[in-house]
Amino acid sequence: MALKGEMLIFICDGVADRPVKELDGKTPLEAARTPNFDRLARLGENGLLDPIAPGVPAGSDTAHLALLGYDPYEYYTGRGPFEALGVGMDVRPGDVAFRCNFATVEERDGELLVKDRRAGRITEGTAELVAPLDGVELDGVKCFIKESTAHRAALVLRGDGLGAAVSDVDPHEEDAAVARAAGATPEDRKTAAVVNEFVELSYETLKGHAVNREREKRGLPPANIILPRGAGLAPHIPRVTQLYDLTAAAVVEVGLIRGIARYCGLDVVPLPPEVNGGLDTDLGAFMAATAEALEKYDLVLANVKGPDVAGHDGDAAAKVDVIERIDAAAAPLLENLPAGCHLALLGDHATPVAVRDHSGDAVPVVFWGPGARTDAVESFGERAAATGGASRLRGRDVLPILLNLADRAEKFGA
Ligand code: ZN
Ligand code: ZN
Repeated sequence: MALKGEMLIFICDGVADRPVKELDGKTPLEAARTPNFDRLARLGENGLLDPIAPGVPAGSDTAHLALLGYDPYEYYTGRGPFEALGVGMDVRPGDVAFRCNFATVEERDGELLVKDRRAGRITEGTAELVAPLDGVELDGVKCFIKESTAHRAALVLRGDGLGAAVSDVDPHEEDAAVARAAGATPEDRKTAAVVNEFVELSYETLKGHAVNREREKRGLPPANIILPRGAGLAPHIPRVTQLYDLTAAAVVEVGLIRGIARYCGLDVVPLPPEVNGGLDTDLGAFMAATAEALEKYDLVLANVKGPDVAGHDGDAAAKVDVIERIDAAAAPLLENLPAGCHLALLGDHATPVAVRDHSGDAVPVVFWGPGARTDAVESFGERAAATGGASRLRGRDVLPILLNLADRAEKFGA
């Protein structure tokens, strides 16, 4: 009989790094004081892991698909569907989804010129702006739109025979004209026609919208158009829960990864607003939610975002600091793990402070729990992990290794 809380995948987002000069050539993870993670490394089996493949910089989305056991090259169909899932939209296999920006355009000689691709980084009123556009039907295709953070939104098209190979309407630079989406196949052309109509409709609807009249009064650029980009066809993904016959939940701070988790069949644990994915997130509440999820589910995936934020900021000191705070906050969780729990502690990719973006460097991983082997590694860090017994792994290896430790793996052969 299965126990709850058998497996925990604990991800410090973007935690891996490269040697940093002002840290005496250590990485932020090596420089950070992490007694709790070091204990796991000492008692567990360590290795380096390439989230996708050696040298391939992984997005958080593709990395998480891999960590849940999927081949990201098979299931990742562009960011749109995952972004839409992340903001809580209903996305179904066969839908075509886009990431969108609220933008500011100006009419000149019959063209719409983009004056600000982010509409002054609008933060208020976006829910009111999308309201009259959500649910409209164009050429028999239902269009659903939902605001995301700041100037971002997601668009989902639902209808028969839609393709996703369409060009962007967003010119990706200012003072350029809004382009018309185009596609090669009949399916792609159908999507392109709906997108073009939707963009026009958004301009007609938003240019006189009360939110924009108010913005113009305050001297702010109006969010008078919606520019979709990054079309993706929502894939058929078999659910983790069915593939491995278990219950699973995700404790995740940011929308994109929440969307991935939900699409893969994991329940998404609601978190209080103080758990905000920033450097000032409530780590105590995050760890408590993870502990609670382990009481109810066989498999829990937890992702804490802070290290990635500091990496994108290029701030080595902040990265060291947030890693230390995560380690300290994790103590009660780690001390009270359910008996029989197996843990994989790792990053989903490297976000080196010198790069300020994701890189293709491998990340350290620890496997810990009853029956797990130990090796000579004494601390959780990049160069220590390189000497461990788990050697070099790929993202897709994590779940099978945990299933094996939990004695849930099926024998291959007689
Ligand atoms: Zn990430
Ligand atoms: Zn990132």
